[in-house]
Amino acid sequence: MNAVPDEAAQASPDRLRLTEIFLSLQGEARAIGWPTVFVRLTGCPLRCQYCDTAYAFHGGQWHDIDAILAEVASYGARHVCVTGGEPLAQKRCIGLLKRLCDAGYEVSLETSGAIDISEVDLRVSRVLDIKTPGSAEVHRNLWSNLALLTPHDQVKFVICSREDYDWARGIVAEHRLTDICDVLFSPSFTQIKPSDLADWIVADRLPVRFQLQLHKILWNDEPGR
Ligand code: SF4
Repeated sequence: MNAVPDEAAQASPDRLRLTEIFLSLQGEARAIGWPTVFVRLTGCPLRCQYCDTAYAFHGGQWHDIDAILAEVASYGARHVCVTGGEPLAQKRCIGLLKRLCDAGYEVSLETSGAIDISEVDLRVSRVLDIKTPGSAEVHRNLWSNLALLTPHDQVKFVICSREDYDWARGIVAEHRLTDICDVLFSPSFTQIKPSDLADWIVADRLPVRFQLQLHKILWNDEPGR
């Protein structure tokens, strides 16, 4: 795919800064296990202490939305996940999501929960993080996003400790999140034992979905897998 020089990119309403596009298996959330094209946009205003995609904070290259759609189509998959970084940090992401939906893909968006989701096409399944105190970015949660959630969306908590679990459980109850959409609890990969989190959920009969990130189990979290 041909990249576009920086100067030209500033003038076009149809270009996005992109870190990578690749085909893999969806490693988490509702579409777990499906062959999926990942479109990873560059940049994120947050700095979660457990971030596993810091390589997407900087760099990347500008690409036309038409070129992104052509590369997505070349993989022949039905599912597309737009991720980052924080993809909504680039406003033109909204247009990319609409174009992907118009093209007939099952589209999901992985977003930090810190940026307004109101303009995201409702055909997109928005996987909205709620940042816990253990993330070091809890102050970035944009709580007004919760009122915009639909049953097509998903909410995700990455749990770093027992304190995080108790906090997340309180947020789920306070906002009745499980009445709105699927709620996902993931262990922070190196910080708590996955079996501890599983035990806490079962003990509390908490109506949330425990998940492990499949791509980390299969490929040890290599970029592009
Ligand atoms: S929001 Fe996502 S990409 Fe940004 S720092 Fe946090 S984990 Fe990393």
